[in-house]
Amino acid sequence: MTWLKLTKQALYLMKGGSAQYIDKVDLTAISDKESKLHIPLKWFQVSDSDAPSGLVVAFESASEPEKLEIPSDGFDAAGVLNRVISTRDWGARGPRTQFGMTTPRYIVIHHTFSLTASGNQSESAAKTLARNIQNFHMDNNGWSDSGHNFLNTTGGFTLEGRHGTLGNIKNGLCVRSAHAPGANDSPGIENEGDFRTAAMGATQWNSLVDLCAAICKSCSIDPNNIKGHRDFVATECPGDWLYGQLPKLRNEVRNNLG
Ligand SMILES: [Zn+2]
Repeated sequence: MTWLKLTKQALYLMKGGSAQYIDKVDLTAISDKESKLHIPLKWFQVSDSDAPSGLVVAFESASEPEKLEIPSDGFDAAGVLNRVISTRDWGARGPRTQFGMTTPRYIVIHHTFSLTASGNQSESAAKTLARNIQNFHMDNNGWSDSGHNFLNTTGGFTLEGRHGTLGNIKNGLCVRSAHAPGANDSPGIENEGDFRTAAMGATQWNSLVDLCAAICKSCSIDPNNIKGHRDFVATECPGDWLYGQLPKLRNEVRNNLG
């Protein structure tokens, strides 16, 4: 997302786009002469047919509408990471050990396959799912904590996985994890769902793009290094459909970062 400074007299029109987007245009006066227009950049990058195709800003004193250039260098990585629900906020169990810090090289994409919130897209369902996955990893797999670093739910909520992930990612680092042998120095993102054949919804897809872009920016990871679990070990994860979307994911992350 980004901020554009406009005069207080500016009027704006979305070109296309349904109310779900237009309602989120946020024009805030910051002085008698200026207002800020809040525009999530991803509106113009999603394939959703409801998304607006552009923005026209008209000034009351001008005879012709003025075309607005959408800047592409303002990706708010800190804002995305600050929206990640921390282990404390979803009520995680304490880890059995402390995890060493790593310098991440990749982002590894997974799907949760059978562990889901059964279509419940609420924030409380997202937190319950995070607890269920942690219990599975600790009690069934015998691991010290959640194996992954992030969970991205169908409702578009992002949650910290392994303890220490979020603070380290904000500092360009990660913690040693347990999601992909050969890439456990790098953050793994579990995406709620079974993506062998099913497609991901737009809300979850957009939060995945934002999260990947934020990690790439914070940790200086090239979007080309967004990989699937199966790139490291013999597994169907993250499912044929999602694996087939990785080129698109890399492109959208690159676009987000400008
Ligand atoms: Zn996996």
